[in-house]
This record gives sequence, structure tokens and C-alpha cells, in this order.
Amino acid sequence: MQSFVYQGMPSRVVFGAGSIEHVEREIERLGARRALILSTPPQRDQAEALAERIGHRAAGVFAEAVMHVPVETARAAREYAERIGADCAIAIGGGSTTGLGKAIALTSSLPILAVPTTYAGSEMTPIYGLTEAGLKKTGRDMRVLPKTVIYDPQLTVSLPASLSVTSGINAIAHAAEGLYAQDANPIVSLMAEEGIRALAQGLGKVVRNPEDMNARSDCLYGAWLCGAVLGSVGMSLHHKLCHTLGGTFNLPHAETHTIVLPHALAYNRDAAPGAMKRIARALNADDAAQGTFELARTNGAPTALKDIGMKESDIDIAVDIALKSPYWNPRPVERAPLRALIEAAYEGRRP
Ligand code: NAD
Repeated sequence: MQSFVYQGMPSRVVFGAGSIEHVEREIERLGARRALILSTPPQRDQAEALAERIGHRAAGVFAEAVMHVPVETARAAREYAERIGADCAIAIGGGSTTGLGKAIALTSSLPILAVPTTYAGSEMTPIYGLTEAGLKKTGRDMRVLPKTVIYDPQLTVSLPASLSVTSGINAIAHAAEGLYAQDANPIVSLMAEEGIRALAQGLGKVVRNPEDMNARSDCLYGAWLCGAVLGSVGMSLHHKLCHTLGGTFNLPHAETHTIVLPHALAYNRDAAPGAMKRIARALNADDAAQGTFELARTNGAPTALKDIGMKESDIDIAVDIALKSPYWNPRPVERAPLRALIEAAYEGRRP
């Protein structure tokens, strides 16, 4: 007999190719009139195009979002939002841009309308991150959960194939860990398995033809579901490890997730057989760890941490940091097997 707690996340999702055309309706639905538009510097053109589309409802564009939300950037964005009298913020971009929107909402409760253009999934979570003096702190607060999310696969066509694959596997990692979470529940597990399936099906097609709109749609749909899993249940070894590796050695976020995931799954293989079976089934593979490794390898993603900037001497530093703050994982996190995991990911060995 099952016993569980399921907490739904109160957000509205508008999905479909061309759905950005509904943005004015969605701003009005939020009761807002003056939108601040956020983006990274490389996506300024997309932000400006959005400002043009919504005309008088655009109060200003702040195209300064960068990875990991430095507190200085968050402060500048909040001041700008206040100066222009914004009553909502539209974050068009990946996790970095959504993260900046969340930082504004955290102190102002400004409603966020997210328009994701990667598969990171931040738009479906009440989790925020802020980096001060090189240290990234994360927290949960319902004020930062975007009120509305517009998923338009057309806006992801410009995401390079290589980034699409690593970003997609980053999303798969949320779902994979969600399936063996301590607080897993049947509804979220359905989303997790379906999310992995949609991404695993779509990513190869996106690599072969980045303009394949059906494949782009599958990937974004999968990303939504995987993001919802991240927002709903707790994460374990894989996410904690990627946080440590990314934060300590400044490794790129999505690539780090892509490389570590097969090894984290191999670590937990025998401790969570039910979850592994579902992950493997969704990947159409015999084994969850090998399936994620193959998904990365066959689609040209990096498979070794040494190829993305980690040094061999960093392995022991990472082990020490990862062991410092204990957390729940299906298999206890112990020094020797943890070191073996990180070493295998460093070398890019098959799990
Ligand atoms: P990102 O937002 O940093 O984007 C990477 C680069 O790709 C940027 O230069 C961006 O402008 C560009 N880009 C994005 N979409 C594009 C498109 N369609 N076409 C062309 N270029 C595009 O990367 P990300 O992987 O989406 O996000 C990573 C960040 O998000 C990390 O800081 C991570 O910690 C955070 N994150 C947070 C959560 C959460 O729940 N809080 C969840 C996932 C990720």
C-alpha cells in the first residue's frame, strides 16, 4: 500500500511552437502593465525583439544576466526594476536568466513570467541561487517560482546542438534523481519517467537537425517535466556533487551534469533498483548508467571532467568537500567509492 505526500506547484504553463505570441495576454493575466525584460548579453537581441512585440507594456531591458547570479548583478537588476517602475519581469533565456528573475522576486515579490530557451528547468522550481564572494548559496522560497511559463520550442532552435545535449542531460539528471528521492511520489515519478523518455527521444534528432520542430518540442516538453521533478522532490548525490564541482573548480554547469550523471547512477545502481529500471526503460537502454553515458557519447557531449577544465589534483579536494556536509542518498556516501566515482568521471570511463 502506498503512502506519500504530493505538493503541486502553482504555476501556469503555456506550451507550443509560436506560443510566445500569447505573451501580452499572459502579462495582462498577471495584472501587470510594465514588464522588465531580462536576458544574458548574448540574448539581448531576443530580449529587444520581445520588447518590440509587447510595445508599451515593455518598461525596459536588462541584458546583464550571467551564470550563478552574482549579488552585484541581482542588486543592479533590482534597482533598475524599481527605477523603471516594473510590475513584472520576463526572463527570456536559460537558468542564469531565470535565476536573475528569481533574485529580483526574492526581495520584491515581483511576478516572474519565464520564457525558457534551454532545458535547465529552473523555471519550474522555487529554488534560487545567489553568489557572493565566490560562494554560491541556494535556498527555497515560493516567491521566486515563476507565475507563468511560456514554453515555445521555436525559441530553442538557436540553442547550439552541443548545448542542447548537455542542457537536456542536465534535465534528465533532475528526473533520474527524482525517481529515487527520499520523498519520491507516484505523480512526480510519472513526470520523471515521461520527461526522460521525451528528452532521450528528442536529443538525437536535434543533433541531426537542430531545426526539427517536433524534436525541439519533445525536448522542451521533457525539460518542463524534469524541471517540475526538481521543484517537487529532493535531490541527492549527483546534484550535490555537481554543485561542489561547479562551484569549487568553476566547471561549466550543464557539461558537469552530463559527465557526472552516469557515474552517480552507477554508484546508486544497487541501492535503487526500481528507479534504475524506470530510467533505463525511459532511455530504451538495458542499464540506467550505461544508457545516460551512451546518450552523451553518441550525441557528441563531453564524457570526462579532465576535458572540461578539472585537474587530477582536484579529485581529492572534491572528495573532501563532498564529504563535509552529509545528506541523504539511497546508498551512503563514503570516501572510497566516492573517490572512485569522481576518478571515473574525471577519466571519462564507461560506468
Ligand atoms: P545559461 O542560462 O547560463 O545559458 C548558457 C548560455 O546559452 C548563455 O550564454 C545563454 O545566453 C545562451 N542561450 C540560452 N538559450 C539560448 C538559445 N535558445 N539560443 C542561443 N543561446 C542561448 O545555462 P543553463 O544551463 O540554462 O543554466 C545554468 C544555470 O542555471 C546555473 O547557474 C544553474 O545553477 C542554474 N539552474 C538553476 C536551477 C534552479 O532550480 N534554481 C535549475 C537548473 C539550473
